[in-house]
Amino acid sequence: MDGWDIAQRWNEVRAAVPAEVQVIAVSKTKPISAIETAYTAGARSFGENRVQELVGKHEALTHPETGQLADYPDLSWHQIGTLQKNKVKYIAPFVGLIHAVDQRSLLDEVDKRADANGRKISVLLQLHIAQESSKFGLSESELAALLSDVDTGHWPQVEIKGLMGMATFTEDRAQVAREFQSLRKLYDRYRDSFGWDTLSMGMSGDWQIAVDNGSNMVRIGSSIFGHR
Ligand SMILES: *Cc1c(COP(=O)(O)O)cnc(C)c1O
Repeated sequence: MDGWDIAQRWNEVRAAVPAEVQVIAVSKTKPISAIETAYTAGARSFGENRVQELVGKHEALTHPETGQLADYPDLSWHQIGTLQKNKVKYIAPFVGLIHAVDQRSLLDEVDKRADANGRKISVLLQLHIAQESSKFGLSESELAALLSDVDTGHWPQVEIKGLMGMATFTEDRAQVAREFQSLRKLYDRYRDSFGWDTLSMGMSGDWQIAVDNGSNMVRIGSSIFGHR
């Protein structure tokens, strides 16, 4: 996009979001050069929602001999969208955080693939907080049931770090605030007993409301990289 300065936009977003809130730069559909520019400006975590694209970008930035992200040593890849079980194996070797786990069968698969790669994989559980039925996520009772299995030692290779949710796409800011509050309440209920530290909520259009309601991780795409 002509005249769109990614480094400047990153700096503006980073300055606007409180320092204690992590900003995930959502680079989906954007080229490698955009990621390089944002990294140079200071971005370290990048969000992608398609496995094939994520793997392709990871490989493009990986040194062919060492297999390391040589020039991007602290870059962390975040899988932010719906994740199909049969694709977990492709990201398991390197993914930093999976944001949208909403089924036990997906936890089973992440656990298995983490084990196969000799590592633990960090995830967030996605809760359904929006009125829209199109949005994914666990219900409150499903979350409770799942966490009681975590308590008894299920999924040892999975590190659940907290919760993630998406608010309804609406101009009604009060409704968005209520939805984020409901997620924050659940997060607070379980945080101490499960050692959680991450509440991922908020995107370009609603991050301010999310932060006002307790988010400590925002996922920002278009405000940094421009329209998709
Ligand atoms: C695309 C996407 C974002 C970023 O959206 P923007 O409105 O461009 O900031 C955040 N979270 C998820 C899950 C997404 O798919």
